[in-house]
Amino acid sequence: MSYSTKQREILLEFFNSNHDKSFTAQEIAEKTSSKGISQSAIYRNIAALEKSGKLRKTTKKGSHTAYYQYVDEDCENHVHISCTKCGKTEHLTSNDESQLIKNVLKNSSFELNTNETILYGICKDCKK
Ligand SMILES: [Zn+2]
Ligand SMILES: [Zn+2]
Repeated sequence: MSYSTKQREILLEFFNSNHDKSFTAQEIAEKTSSKGISQSAIYRNIAALEKSGKLRKTTKKGSHTAYYQYVDEDCENHVHISCTKCGKTEHLTSNDESQLIKNVLKNSSFELNTNETILYGICKDCKK
């Protein structure tokens, strides 16, 4: 396994075991630093993984900081909802809900790209 492949593996492993959370690039760097990945390799890999659809980028309210979260196979063709306070992102699990949103757009000339669609809201934990 080449050095750069190894770095990507480490990152993917990190995201995979934290697939319900989102992190800034800075946090990812801190949490994986013990595994010997350089900062620049992390940023490079994040960009590549986002481009290939393995990571989803979200932002929180009032901040331009990007948060990244792993996109697993279950994510495909689901609309996601992201908490503007903590950045937690989930997909709408029932296809009906995604369907509902598609129906809303039925009379418009647009077709929804579910993989790219993120709704923003406040999660249960942050509402307390
Ligand atoms: Zn998902
Ligand atoms: Zn929240």
